[in-house]
Amino acid sequence: MFLKKKMTLFISLLLLLANIGCSAGANEGENGKPILKIGYLPITHASPLFLNQHIHDGEHEGYEVELVKFGSWPDLMDALNTGRIDGASVLIQLAMKSVEKGIDLSAVALGHQDGNALISAKGIDSIQEIKGESFAIPHTYSTHHLLLQELLTLEGMDYDDIDIVELPPAEMPVALSEGRIEGYVVAEPFGALGLHLDIGEVLAFSEDFWPDSYCCVLVLRDDFIDSNFEVAEDYVKSYVEAGKKADEKGSELYEALQDYMKVEDETLDISLEWITFDNLSIEKAEYDKILKKVMDLELMESPPTYGELVDNRFIDRAKLE
Ligand code: ZN
Repeated sequence: MFLKKKMTLFISLLLLLANIGCSAGANEGENGKPILKIGYLPITHASPLFLNQHIHDGEHEGYEVELVKFGSWPDLMDALNTGRIDGASVLIQLAMKSVEKGIDLSAVALGHQDGNALISAKGIDSIQEIKGESFAIPHTYSTHHLLLQELLTLEGMDYDDIDIVELPPAEMPVALSEGRIEGYVVAEPFGALGLHLDIGEVLAFSEDFWPDSYCCVLVLRDDFIDSNFEVAEDYVKSYVEAGKKADEKGSELYEALQDYMKVEDETLDISLEWITFDNLSIEKAEYDKILKKVMDLELMESPPTYGELVDNRFIDRAKLE
């Protein structure tokens, strides 16, 4: 009898431990399905994420997906780094910084290709004309920062010829209209918004001086991948499919974007014209260009190598099917 009680207790403990094990990398819904929580900022660069959610309404076979909105990159990164969300659509440099700090993340797909415009006050033909003036970027750890630095180099200017300031994306068009800055470069649709509101004009397109520059990526926490491998696999497959559909830029994409951001269709028309979503693989050669720039600018001391950040297992498998 005593032995039976002991066995029951032992089995109960085992079950409890098994449950803890299951939930280590994912939250669970009422029906016991894992919930994949993905953080985002309302930007057109995250179109595959939004369209995927719009198509499936968060219900996938065997799991659910919840999108969690953030107002700033630092808030989003804090949630990602502490495990309050399982993944995010995020600037690749922020993901690199987290991995450098020891957070186990993997970049599993791009958010988009190209689609960054440097916007200036009207009537400015070259960045040389705004020497000594302020130019806004969203974050030190951003492709926008690197693009600005690249353009300055190509124009024969020094990094400190321009006063580089950090501003929240939504504030940039306003700051330009008030003359607090002479230009900005940021994730879309804020560049397009500046044009649509007739505040500024395009000083340069990223693809004209740095084609295929990477910007946003979809990252997942490694603890989520380890304990929910099939979920990660299926989700990336649906994300890549949504990317292909997003690239058609049809009415469904507009509906999806309107679910997540309050932007007029005319602004989206301009914004989407600049961006492509059809090939979301992260290639080593392009990653290495970013890595070199990050080191040249001394933004990080030991940023992750391609192999330390990028996990192509999911996107490679998605492409085979
Ligand atoms: Zn982006």
